[in-house]
Amino acid sequence: MIYRWFLVFVCLCAGASLGFLLAATDGLIAGLFIAVTTCLALDSIHLGRFLRWLRVVQSNDALAATPDLLPSLQGVWLDAGERVRKIIRQQERKLQDAQARLDEFLAAMQASPVGVVLLDAQDRIEWCNDMATQHFGFDARRDLLQHITNLVRVPGFKAYMASNDYSQDVLVAGSASQPGRPVNLSVHAYAYGNERKLLLSRDITAVELAEAMRRDFVANVSHEIRTPLTVLSGFIETLQTLPLDEPERERYLALMAQQSQRMQTLVNDLLTLSKLEGSPQPGANEWTPCDALLAQCEQEAKALSRLLATQGHQLLFAAEKGWQIAGVQAELFSAFSNLVTNAVRYTPDAGQIHVSWQVLADGRGKFLVKDSGPGIAPEHLPRLTERFYRVDRSRSRETGGTGLGLAIVKHVAQRHNAELNIESVSGQGSSFSITFPAARVRKIL
Ligand code: ADP
Repeated sequence: MIYRWFLVFVCLCAGASLGFLLAATDGLIAGLFIAVTTCLALDSIHLGRFLRWLRVVQSNDALAATPDLLPSLQGVWLDAGERVRKIIRQQERKLQDAQARLDEFLAAMQASPVGVVLLDAQDRIEWCNDMATQHFGFDARRDLLQHITNLVRVPGFKAYMASNDYSQDVLVAGSASQPGRPVNLSVHAYAYGNERKLLLSRDITAVELAEAMRRDFVANVSHEIRTPLTVLSGFIETLQTLPLDEPERERYLALMAQQSQRMQTLVNDLLTLSKLEGSPQPGANEWTPCDALLAQCEQEAKALSRLLATQGHQLLFAAEKGWQIAGVQAELFSAFSNLVTNAVRYTPDAGQIHVSWQVLADGRGKFLVKDSGPGIAPEHLPRLTERFYRVDRSRSRETGGTGLGLAIVKHVAQRHNAELNIESVSGQGSSFSITFPAARVRKIL
């Protein structure tokens, strides 16, 4: 600034001196006037350029387009231009930082497994993430600034939004909901800022399904245990109150033993299932010989057949020798034995049961149980591995079934990366197979 005043002063002095030299006092005044006018004219030119530059900066919204204009300024105007440019740069940087933070924040909201909708004071959609568009069926662009209650037309939701009481969740059917496949959403609004709202939606279909399954399971277990327990307590009461003769007493005790055995089998199966669900997947370095598994199954099948059938079943065991399966022996035996004993239990007297182990051309190992029993109608096939699902309830009970056998088989197969396959035609027998991947099968040298 001092330099500028110095320059003006030098200019005035030069003008005055030149004027004085040329025309004495009149020349001095004229020289001063010309010097002042020249200074003002030069300043006006620079001011004009500066304002033009500011206009360009303003209209471009960026400094990048204006670098060539700045050098045309000089002196204090150049200095002012540089300073303005610096301030604008700083503001731009702050704006970019703020924008980057906002983008990151929105990306985090976008990644959320929960649906997020931001509403303005009139309940119009300001922003929503992809999950919310899936949940409610919004179009993220088209539906911006639409009233949410125009898009989610569930009466319960409308009442919830109008109530201004957001202490609870509201349940809403998701946009993908279909008659046979409901999708249930739990939606919660949170008021914030200036009457704005944050709406969070969660898909609770799986949670509700799991809860329903848990309730069914508890009800089934209670029912399964209550039945033998009621019979047992009835017999105990009879034994305590009635003077029974010895043969009668023995008959009652035998029936009691049968019921307690039934409860024991049920508890054992339940424990097996919970162990299967709670333990880590079996590794591929514990090898179980197939020969031993099949021999054990054969023994068990023969014993059960003798117990259930008068003529006995035709049991045919055919296994390629010397193979091993990578997996837990107890689990594999439980699965194989369930399939074999089911075949014995459901196939009528003198029926045929084929049990085989073979290694397929692609290296996979297949355990197959085929029987000539009653077969299973197609509508039951998809549900057979559900816990406590039975086609023939009375046959299952008579033969000591718990309704958990195939659920155990399915779990064991899954844990060994194997596939359980059920094929059956009503009246023409059934075949159950477990196919192990080649990586879990090997031949002993
Ligand atoms: P359960 O203990 O009742 O046998 P499972 O889970 O082992 O229970 O089997 C479920 C149902 O599948 C059985 O109740 C039975 O109706 C049917 N089932 C299983 N194996 C056979 C089979 N080999 N032949 C006909 N029906 C079968």
